[in-house]
Amino acid sequence: MNKLSLANLPTQIQHLSRWSAECGKNIYVKRDDQTGSEWSGNKIRKLEFAVKEALDQGCNLLITCGGIQSNHCRATVAVATRLGLRSAVLLRISEQPPLAGNYFLDRLMGADVRFCTRDEYRDHRAEIMQEMADVYAAQGFKPYIIPEGASFGIGTLGYYHAMKEIVAQEREMGISFDTLVVATGSGGTLAGLQLSNLVNGYGKRIIGVCVCDDTAYFQAIAVRISRDALPYLVAQGELSQDRADHVAKALEPMDFELFEEYVGIGYALSRPEELAHIARMARLEGTVFDPVYTGKATYGMVNELKPGGRLRSSENILFIHTGGLFGLFPVSGSFQL
Ligand SMILES: *Cc1c(COP(=O)(O)O)cnc(C)c1O
Repeated sequence: MNKLSLANLPTQIQHLSRWSAECGKNIYVKRDDQTGSEWSGNKIRKLEFAVKEALDQGCNLLITCGGIQSNHCRATVAVATRLGLRSAVLLRISEQPPLAGNYFLDRLMGADVRFCTRDEYRDHRAEIMQEMADVYAAQGFKPYIIPEGASFGIGTLGYYHAMKEIVAQEREMGISFDTLVVATGSGGTLAGLQLSNLVNGYGKRIIGVCVCDDTAYFQAIAVRISRDALPYLVAQGELSQDRADHVAKALEPMDFELFEEYVGIGYALSRPEELAHIARMARLEGTVFDPVYTGKATYGMVNELKPGGRLRSSENILFIHTGGLFGLFPVSGSFQL
């Protein structure tokens, strides 16, 4: 396969027995938070494909963007540095940030950092990254731009293949998951899982829990980047051109299921009940979720597993733990322990 081999794969699938007993279901967690240390989390699966393309194109500098505590930026910096490439990250901030968490690691590993405001980020991040690329190019670098979260065509392959990994593990473990749940922040993880589910006929219910924006927003992204992934799948011999054309036409927003009720007070902002949930889970299972993504997603799961909830008909549920631990430390002061 045309990708780098950086992540620790396959990641473990663990049964969470006390949470399972509590809700009367079988809850499993796939430890994609353990794909590595410096590049831990879900983004490395996408970067294995994207950065391979960068190297194949002779690029020697990776540029990407995200929030100040972006796990994706930190993973990109780690990969670039390990491979001997330079890295530059465009970070969205409101004020001068403390040197903490992922941002500290970006700086520790030597990334060039450029800041922008929320408005600049929302409306102009692609142009700003292109401007950065032009400046580096004038200095003799060959830059490769990775969009937010590596949620673009080639990055989507990471979770397309992760879905196949999950199905192989199901066979080994003698379990069949009826439902998969994942936190959704830029859409690529959900898109890759569901594209694989559809193309390979696995018949799973896959749910993305929004941590920002809403269902319609992520459905549109998922359709677009799934379509953009198809030419790469054809090139890899995963799909025939005819089949890819058929899938491209058939894909529609409704193919992607999202829960949009758990954004709370906004991206990377925590309500006390979400932090209390993270502490409760840490004490129940010795498994630590992060405040920005997996904490909100599992908070939503707990609620939807109650009578009348939308997960009531599920029996064997796999939560994809996508990482984010470094983002927990900068908010430790907000916990009531
Ligand atoms: C980026 C991220 C997600 C969301 O994945 P997307 O593909 O961007 O939707 C979930 N959890 C963590 C910890 C992340 O860093």
